[in-house]
Amino acid sequence: MRFPWKESTVEEQRSSRWLRWRVVAALLLVSAVPFIVVGSGAWVVFRNLAIERTLALQRNMARSHAAAIDMYLTEQLRTLEMITRTNTLEQLLSGDRLREVFDAMGGVHEDAFVDLGIIDERGRHLAYIGPFDLEDKTYDEAEWFQAVMAEGSTVSDVFLGYRQIPHSVIAIRQQSATGWWMLRATLDNRSLYGLVRSLEAGSMGDVFIVNHEGLYQTPPRAGSVLDTSSLVDPALHHGVRDQRLAGAAGAVRQVTTWLNSNRWLLVVQQPESEILAPVQRAVAVGALIVALALALVLIATILVTSHLIRQVELANQERDVMYADLIRSAKLASLGEMATGLAHEINNPLATISAEQTNLTDVIGDADLAGHVRESLEKSVARCKRQVERCGDITTKMLQFGRKTDTMLGATQLESALQDIAALVERRARANNVALHFEIEPQLPAAWLDANEFEQVVVNLVSNAIDAADGPGNITISATRDGDQVLLRVADDGCGVAPANLERIFQPFFTTKPVGQGTGLGLSVVYGIVRGWGGTINVDSAVGQGTTFSIRLPVADETRSNRARDLTANLGEASR
Ligand code: ADP
Repeated sequence: MRFPWKESTVEEQRSSRWLRWRVVAALLLVSAVPFIVVGSGAWVVFRNLAIERTLALQRNMARSHAAAIDMYLTEQLRTLEMITRTNTLEQLLSGDRLREVFDAMGGVHEDAFVDLGIIDERGRHLAYIGPFDLEDKTYDEAEWFQAVMAEGSTVSDVFLGYRQIPHSVIAIRQQSATGWWMLRATLDNRSLYGLVRSLEAGSMGDVFIVNHEGLYQTPPRAGSVLDTSSLVDPALHHGVRDQRLAGAAGAVRQVTTWLNSNRWLLVVQQPESEILAPVQRAVAVGALIVALALALVLIATILVTSHLIRQVELANQERDVMYADLIRSAKLASLGEMATGLAHEINNPLATISAEQTNLTDVIGDADLAGHVRESLEKSVARCKRQVERCGDITTKMLQFGRKTDTMLGATQLESALQDIAALVERRARANNVALHFEIEPQLPAAWLDANEFEQVVVNLVSNAIDAADGPGNITISATRDGDQVLLRVADDGCGVAPANLERIFQPFFTTKPVGQGTGLGLSVVYGIVRGWGGTINVDSAVGQGTTFSIRLPVADETRSNRARDLTANLGEASR
């Protein structure tokens, strides 16, 4: 039987949706937390590892490159020193000697020097080989000149000089008979730049040299030689120093070391974002994988939760239906008791009325009465008799509903029983333009019931179905086996039953038919009969679509038949 409350209410739907999302959220949280914890831990570990590894590499590279650059500069100084030792001033000034020396220097250190000159102690050029017109220039004011005079040799900072091109000078002082003189060469910046840049090949970031004032001596990635570096602090320090600085575009890691007799600072610096880029890429791939895994977990969780909640809902609905069935059965059982009591109470006076009415008929027959008086009395008595019979009918039905009538249960073949009944109902169906269909499963086992009552049951159900069709329609009577039960169905495509009436449909005297057309006892009698057979009856209906009554009856197995046969034999003997 389909009850109105079998469909879940809006409140139930809301609470099951709420439950579903709570379960999904809880499962997601439980599965996401380990991912997030492991992911964050891995990020911190890999981040520190990447920074540590890069810094270690940068420190090593800075140390070894500082040594290499220092060696390069010392070598250039040694070259000049060797020239001054192996040649006197006079020799260098005579003929093409200086050019020969300059050419020989080019042979030893390719691209090391741009030009070569001899300068006296007042800073004037005594001789010059090179691309610039510098022979009449005086250098006594130049910083490098004073450094050489003071220290004996120098590798100068980069400056513009007379030529107005950034360059660096290397010079060495020598004593002659007439006084001091010096050999001065311009370093070819390309060699120095090349040496510094070779660090960048190892993806160490930006590499350059600054002097004491923080002016670029070699070009950085962004900026040019002699610009002021913003991030470098040119304070003297020992060995290799590393720092974390706040740059305009984020944190920067910087490694520095002094070289060229603490005149120049070699700087290796790299933004943290650049150092962490490979880690970030790995983390992004990891995050994508985790997101995919979480999406899978989410889908699986939603599916499993929906399935579980649906199962719970179904179980709840089944429980509700069971409770409703129990309540209905209990209600009908107490109604049955009441109906039986009433029927018995009414049957006694009816029997008296019936006896008195027979007596009255006899008296009227014997009495000497005028013709029209006799006729009138006989009509009255006949009317009383009809009403008494009608009341008798009703009390019989009430007793049938309460199962207080005698029944003869036995194994009954539904196929043949239904064939007999078909003859009874077909005429009425045809008269109402309703088609009757029979669908009986072959080799259907016999059912355990009373054949006379079975006829009453089917006739009642088909009559109601014809009434419900109210015009052309179809009624299908089917019988199939379902486990150890026989399932009989009477289905129509009539008006259907309103949900509010479904609950009351088996109650005695419930009818929707006009007064005089329905007693409301048909289905209650059917219900009482079926329960008396040990079967069940249910109704399924949709307004405007039709109604199906389903009756489940026990299969008449051998044990049951034998027991019934023995009982009948015993009763026969007892009565003899
Ligand atoms: P009655 O037929 O005298 O009304 P019943 O107990 O047989 O008494 O039926 C009770 C009520 O159940 C009917 O009045 C009708 O409203 C409803 N009913 C029974 N069978 C059907 C059906 N097949 N289709 C629609 N309504 C039905």
